[in-house]
Amino acid sequence: MSSLILAAPFDGWLSPLDDVPDAVFAQRLLGDGVAIDPLDGTLHAPAAGTVVSLHAAGHAITLRLDGGVEVLMHIGLETVRLGGEGFVAHVRAGDRVVAGQPLITVDLGAVAPRVKSLVTPIVLTETAGHAVIEQAAPGRITRGAPLLVLAPAATKADSKAQAFVPAAQVTLRLPLAHGLHARPAARLAELARSYDADVRIVPAATPDAAPCRLRSPSAIMALGLRHGDAMIVMASGPAAQAAIDALADLIETGMGELRPLDQAPAPAAAPAPAATVPSAPLQTGDRLIAVTAAAGYAIGQAAWLERPEPPRAEASDGAAAERARFAQGRAALAADLDGRAQAQEGSEQAGILIAHRQLLDDEDILDAVDDGIARGESASQAWHAVMQARAAALRAAPDPHIAQRADDFVDLEWQLQWHLAGQTPPPVALPDAAIVIARDLVPSQVAALSAGQVAGLVTAQGGPTSHVAIIAASKGIPALVAAGPRVLSIAPGTPLLLDATGGMLTVDPDATTWAAAQVEADRRAARKAAAQAAAGEEGRTRDGLRIEVCANLGKRSEAAPAVASGAEGCGLLRTEFLFLDRASAPSEDEQAEDYTAIAQALDGRPLIIRLLDIGGDKPAPYLPIPAEENPALGLRGIRVGLAQREMLVPQLRAVLRAGAHGPVKVMAPMIARVDELRSVRAALTAEAASLGLPMVPLGVMVETPAAAVMADALAAECDFLSIGTNDLTQYALAMDRGNPAVAGSIDGLDPAVLRLIGLCCEGAESHGKWVGVCGGLASDPLAVPILIGLGVTELSAAPAMVPEIKALVRALSSQDCRALALEVLQVSTAAQVRVLATQMIEGVGR
Ligand code: PEP
Ligand code: MG
Repeated sequence: MSSLILAAPFDGWLSPLDDVPDAVFAQRLLGDGVAIDPLDGTLHAPAAGTVVSLHAAGHAITLRLDGGVEVLMHIGLETVRLGGEGFVAHVRAGDRVVAGQPLITVDLGAVAPRVKSLVTPIVLTETAGHAVIEQAAPGRITRGAPLLVLAPAATKADSKAQAFVPAAQVTLRLPLAHGLHARPAARLAELARSYDADVRIVPAATPDAAPCRLRSPSAIMALGLRHGDAMIVMASGPAAQAAIDALADLIETGMGELRPLDQAPAPAAAPAPAATVPSAPLQTGDRLIAVTAAAGYAIGQAAWLERPEPPRAEASDGAAAERARFAQGRAALAADLDGRAQAQEGSEQAGILIAHRQLLDDEDILDAVDDGIARGESASQAWHAVMQARAAALRAAPDPHIAQRADDFVDLEWQLQWHLAGQTPPPVALPDAAIVIARDLVPSQVAALSAGQVAGLVTAQGGPTSHVAIIAASKGIPALVAAGPRVLSIAPGTPLLLDATGGMLTVDPDATTWAAAQVEADRRAARKAAAQAAAGEEGRTRDGLRIEVCANLGKRSEAAPAVASGAEGCGLLRTEFLFLDRASAPSEDEQAEDYTAIAQALDGRPLIIRLLDIGGDKPAPYLPIPAEENPALGLRGIRVGLAQREMLVPQLRAVLRAGAHGPVKVMAPMIARVDELRSVRAALTAEAASLGLPMVPLGVMVETPAAAVMADALAAECDFLSIGTNDLTQYALAMDRGNPAVAGSIDGLDPAVLRLIGLCCEGAESHGKWVGVCGGLASDPLAVPILIGLGVTELSAAPAMVPEIKALVRALSSQDCRALALEVLQVSTAAQVRVLATQMIEGVGR
């Protein structure tokens, strides 16, 4: 292999590819190179070689130069639309050309006004083991002048084979409750990429296994590392130690895994053992038990949702053509995913689309596809083989959260295959009241369905924490998963009764069951519709006690939809969403802008801004909190702000500034002592004075048993109290809210928690202060009458629950609630509390 010089094919202006206003070229999806804005109209061969392809529209040509390097020259951008007008080709595919030979003449004057740009990318679509060692400087260049000098480089195979010798390493235990799943894997990969180091990871249990590159989220996920597993992180290269330090910090601090209980999906139940049931076809009246993925109730008819197979090219058109096809398809899908994520910003679905987008950039996957193409596979074959292998590896992971991410690989494969084929999947046609039956679904299929189009979903496979489940729940489509293979024997059109809340599917029920189900479905639908229609009415019990029903918010984009669902304000703005997942803390101005925008969206309704609740299970990468033996009891919540005033002060100032735009209040999380409240008040007063702005009311979040017991002392010095029942429950019962081992027993309706809430209300009342609840109990219909009975007058719920909670409040009598509260304070178990609360709820027809 020898060096090679490519000469400028045009007179013109030379620029780097980054300046080309087309993402496919600028992002080097087709390969590295340069661009020339031509001043003369004839493109010449940059070196001797053979014409591999000449586009029918005459605007693009690929040459294979002697030595195997392939170069694509694409005259102008979007010139393909001209269909050849203005272009004259002087050669044909297969022709041998010499350096400097005219290839294509373009009528610059005629073409320029009709296209986006005449800038001509000159791209190395195949380097054949060469690397660019010199490149002409940007600016004016004359035809024939040296443009690029290529020299043989270490081949990819060589570099892959080079032994990995770590210069630094560390052994860590994984603190994440759900193991190393997609999001933390992507964050690790992102951090690893920012260092000049080759970082790899290997499970400590198999230290001799080949370490996996940290730049590949898919490969990291496939390791199947679970909560508590030990792993060795090692690095080579100039920044090895720095990379290891940063990654160790990120891993040890829990990687920003934020899982507020009222937002997290239900913990993974083991998928039902239905798959082990012999697959006798289902008969009339049979009932099938499955796992709830999205609660709800529906009656309808079975409909099969087949996923149409995309056409797959079974033969390669040559490596260069396949690489180009792959790059173009990938760029198109990336743009499509970005567009959809943007359109649904802030939603669960956007998060999933972003995760898919990151998988498209996974370096290991891209390398593996490239290897497949180099071996003679079509882009479609290579993509299929790589993605199916990744999906199979994930499916074998012992942790169900990770195994359920296999769907995402299958989905992404499917979507890109359509792009590679240049086609779109046929539209879905479903009968009325369709209860969709499928072996399995992928996230994009469910994302394309609407609650109006389908009554429910039942899959033979899948799991309750899959993205399919999350999307179904966010769309309000009742869904069961892991129903087992027998569900596949249901014929289309069969009447079905789907009780997704109860985890049951009834096939072709008898007339009496069907009639009762119809009544029940109508009752539930009417109740939901009535709650939605009356969402604008104020929260008040039927005997006139005012109960404000607000929404918990995490982002600006959630405010307007919450108001549309009837939220009477925001009882908890979790400001940490603005602080997490970024490299540095947001400035005072940034915060002021965000809080002001939310206050404005709430349009005169109250906004309670919680001071940064960070540390413990919510670390920020830039926050220097040393690893703690027991972070839930360490530096978290207001303790962080008081220890690091540079975090607290800008936030207080931003809150005060937003106070000019609406009824803004502020509250401090994790207060355990009156001293802490005094320090916050002193800081708030000082900042209000320095800004010359009025004070805003200051509240205490009651999340520690100490605060609940000392509520009277706190109430004497604060303006309101808001109970964070998620943390209060974890601290009262000494059960980690993020630990699946105790997830089954951690119950906010435990009488121990209810007694603390009762104490808190008494303490507040003795000083005439109001009490709200912003933890998960405010979204639990069973808890609502008890909380009202104990003296709570504001409920801040998950936004989707606001209409239902409001409707429930309007159905209750405060007198009855008080009687219920007295009763539950006397019982000894959460189960007894539930029985009593259920009786009350059913008694008021909810
Ligand atoms: C709570 O603890 O109940 C609460 C609302 O705060 P978070 O869930 O954000 O910790
Ligand atoms: Mg909390």
